[in-house]
Amino acid sequence: MTDMPDTTLTPDPSHVAEGHPPTDDAAGYYTPGTPLVDTKAPAGPISDRWQTRKFEARLVNPANRRKLDVIIVGTGLAGASAAATMGEAGYVVKSFCYQDSPRRAHSIAAQGGINAAKNYKEDGDSVHRLFYDTVKGGDYRSRESNVYRLAEVSVNIIDQCVAQGVPFAREYGGLLDNRSFGGVQVSRTFYARGQTGQQLLIGAYQALERQVAAGTVTTYTRHEMLELIVVDGKARGIVVRDMVTGAIETHLADVVVLASGGYGNVFYLSTNAMGCNVTAAWRAHRKGAYMANPCYTQIHPTCIPVSGAHQSKLTLMSESLRNDGRIWVPKKKEDCAKDPREIPEADRDYFLERIYPSFGNLVPRDIASRAAKYMCDEGRGVGPEVEGVRRGVYLDFADAIARLGKEGVEEKYDNLLDMYERIAGENPYEVPMRIYPAVHYVMGGLWVDYDLQSTIPGLFVTGEANFSDHGANRLGASALMQGLADGYFVLPHTIRDYLADGPFPEVAADHPAVVEARTAVEKRIEHFLSIGGTRSVDSYHRELGHIMWEYCGMERTEEGLKKAIDLIRSLKDEFNRNLKVLGTADSLNQSLEKAGRVADFFELGELMCIDALNRRESCGGHFRAESQTEDGEALRHDDQFAYVAAWEYAGDKPVLHKEELTYTAIEMKQRSYK
Ligand SMILES: Cc1cc2nc3c(=O)[nH]c(=O)nc-3n(C[C@H](O)[C@H](O)[C@H](O)COP(=O)(O)OP(=O)(O)OC[C@H]3O[C@@H](n4cnc5c(N)ncnc54)[C@H](O)[C@@H]3O)c2cc1C
Repeated sequence: MTDMPDTTLTPDPSHVAEGHPPTDDAAGYYTPGTPLVDTKAPAGPISDRWQTRKFEARLVNPANRRKLDVIIVGTGLAGASAAATMGEAGYVVKSFCYQDSPRRAHSIAAQGGINAAKNYKEDGDSVHRLFYDTVKGGDYRSRESNVYRLAEVSVNIIDQCVAQGVPFAREYGGLLDNRSFGGVQVSRTFYARGQTGQQLLIGAYQALERQVAAGTVTTYTRHEMLELIVVDGKARGIVVRDMVTGAIETHLADVVVLASGGYGNVFYLSTNAMGCNVTAAWRAHRKGAYMANPCYTQIHPTCIPVSGAHQSKLTLMSESLRNDGRIWVPKKKEDCAKDPREIPEADRDYFLERIYPSFGNLVPRDIASRAAKYMCDEGRGVGPEVEGVRRGVYLDFADAIARLGKEGVEEKYDNLLDMYERIAGENPYEVPMRIYPAVHYVMGGLWVDYDLQSTIPGLFVTGEANFSDHGANRLGASALMQGLADGYFVLPHTIRDYLADGPFPEVAADHPAVVEARTAVEKRIEHFLSIGGTRSVDSYHRELGHIMWEYCGMERTEEGLKKAIDLIRSLKDEFNRNLKVLGTADSLNQSLEKAGRVADFFELGELMCIDALNRRESCGGHFRAESQTEDGEALRHDDQFAYVAAWEYAGDKPVLHKEELTYTAIEMKQRSYK
């Protein structure tokens, strides 16, 4: 990291605005706004709410559907499933992605599996238990009605995918097999070896292509959405750049759906695909869509450790490996440099099994990640030293090989273990793997109501791009479940209630709102190309990521977050003065594409730090060092923070709207996995 100029952007305490609670660390960084209420969530018994909403949502007759245009940005599981279903229903759908094929969406990388409350193992699972596990796993910071709906439709997803031909793993007798993921004591995860995302995406893609052939869906690949068009307060279209020719195009519709994925790459190093970014969501945020809980980031415990300062990508080792692999570090610091095979059993600390005997190696991700960090902070990490610390713990398959045989392990995990060997250069069948936590997923995203509609009427958000159903921590195998639930089963019902008022008045191509959006895109591109500085986009991104990881990563403090905000602001300032983007606007230009994405990451990163500063409690993946129990576990403060933080864009000083979280079907408790 380069030296930073000293900045004095931290607000003076005397500026603390009225309306802030006295303990608000973020006072002065934001303006308190009015409370936010989800007006679409039906009342009544939790198990009836989705049925009620589906029934109450107005219908659109098939003849009228053909007159309604729907734009869907994103072809991952959330977007492809929505586009296929809306196309099948007869709407006129335009589907956008920035990859060269819808099939290359980041969802393809998902390895471990997808949850569903089928109870095939007869081990006590049910819709209610999946609902309960997910709310508890999310540390009681998710919306009860949404999570129940997710658990309810989970069972349909598996049937739908099997009907599409998704090759889920099967048991000897032919029934679908299940395994366990963290934070649960039942086996409810369906999987296709270590390629579940790929197989599910092929299913959704085939359904999408069927609609392309039927003429209901048109796909636009290598097109990047760079602006949202809002006319008379409603989302009516998008501005995109053809990434091959550089042409700027406007596309108009009756409704816009964003299924544009997560923004974990704000940290630079993450397990996300290199292209994942926040631009579609952030452009909508700047146009009025609130951003909810942006600081809730998932740090996944089982990733291949960082090996050096110039790395640009981290690799996930699926959580499914924790079914059979055992996590340990040496008991004695002096053993850390030894060959692990020479460390006797008595000198090994299986720390998750020791600290959390009920859940053992299958505690939720936030808990496993923090425990690994503490072991390394204590000096008991393994692997090569990076900046003076060994940041790794062992994930050991020796017991599993003894129990199942090498073939048994291969059958379940071979592609994952092969991938490890190719990257780490060690054979995991012989030497324990080394793993360390890394950024993996974001629970934050655009705020949506029960109908998945944002605060801009006509803008719906699905999949990882919305603030989702996972509260402050997502349980493994539930992102695929949510993306497909949203796309196949939720959005198609809720969006029709909005579309029942359409078709909306036609928007002319020269409407001032269209011209404004298009001009804004053109000017921004011009700005990046004209700076003519000396530093590459990647170097800014790397430095921003370092700030985020250091101060808004696994552990956050008031002091660190304030420092991060100052550092981000001055780095952003330098970016706008000293960025170097080569090439032109009218051709394929990856550094131009990245410039826009990194500019949006700067603004997002700052908001994440303000959000984390405001939430002086620890919950799930958000660990504030100031708020922990005596034994170092996350300590929530339900009396002060049982809300969704929904941020309205207002330049340097965002406005915070709080949506209160109430639980009627589940009692809020301090989480325990011991
Ligand atoms: C390595 C890895 C493994 C995982 N394994 C699992 C697992 O086993 N189980 C599980 O439940 N979850 C898993 N997850 C999480 C899960 O894969 C993701 O949360 C999920 O796939 C996101 O799906 P999505 O459809 O919301 O977004 P994505 O799949 O990220 O798709 C985003 C789409 O939006 C498009 N897009 C984005 N911005 C723009 C723009 N500006 N213009 C045009 N198009 C745009 C992209 O082109 C893409 O088509 C894993 C995640 C990672 C990183």
